[in-house]
Amino acid sequence: MRKEIVDAKTAKTVLGEAARAAQVSGDRMLTKRYIHVSLPLGEAKQQDGRSRYIRHWLVVEIGLTGRNNLEGPELSICATEYGKLRNGRTEDLGTGQHREPLRERGGTAQLRLLELWERWHLNGLRAGCEHQRAGGWDKRPIYPDKPTSAYVRHPDRSNGWNMLTWLPVEHGGLLSAPCPTCGYKYGSQWLYEAIPTEVLAELDAMSGPPEAKTLVQAADQYQQKGRTQ
Ligand SMILES: [Zn+2]
Repeated sequence: MRKEIVDAKTAKTVLGEAARAAQVSGDRMLTKRYIHVSLPLGEAKQQDGRSRYIRHWLVVEIGLTGRNNLEGPELSICATEYGKLRNGRTEDLGTGQHREPLRERGGTAQLRLLELWERWHLNGLRAGCEHQRAGGWDKRPIYPDKPTSAYVRHPDRSNGWNMLTWLPVEHGGLLSAPCPTCGYKYGSQWLYEAIPTEVLAELDAMSGPPEAKTLVQAADQYQQKGRTQ
């Protein structure tokens, strides 16, 4: 739960905690942007046939961080979901990977945000090499009649997503399978994938007014100044 900043002293404490947490994890926040997404009211969730909320929205937080061991900046996206009830109270529905409301009820612009979110979130933690990514290894299902996002029983009797990259190679999957081009074994490391500037610019354009730097500016400065500063 986010702490409410009520005065300068509390603000300092909150910032201090965040800075310490960043130091411990080796992360450096380069900049943050926010996108407010109003959601169409969902299907009736109550017996009287009315929607539970009179307003329903997401605050999507787009953070750009510099981790010590990465070749470039890393994008991290999460959202806090809110609903305003008929009695005027606002419910905080939690923070995290709240992408379902966009998938289920988003319009064109919101679906584009979802697409960028799913494609570029945590670009410093890629299980596949560039060739495996280009070959869509993580889009291949174990069971073709179900989506890859389904949680299923694997042929080796383990449970997981319906993705061949989650199934060890000895059971017919792609986990630990070598890339035909470079030999990298899928899932053996976390690899960095550079984010195109156009992607950052598109996210900047979707965001509210910048509090500090835009994503493009922060990424540029990070690349120019070097990662050791
Ligand atoms: Zn490769």
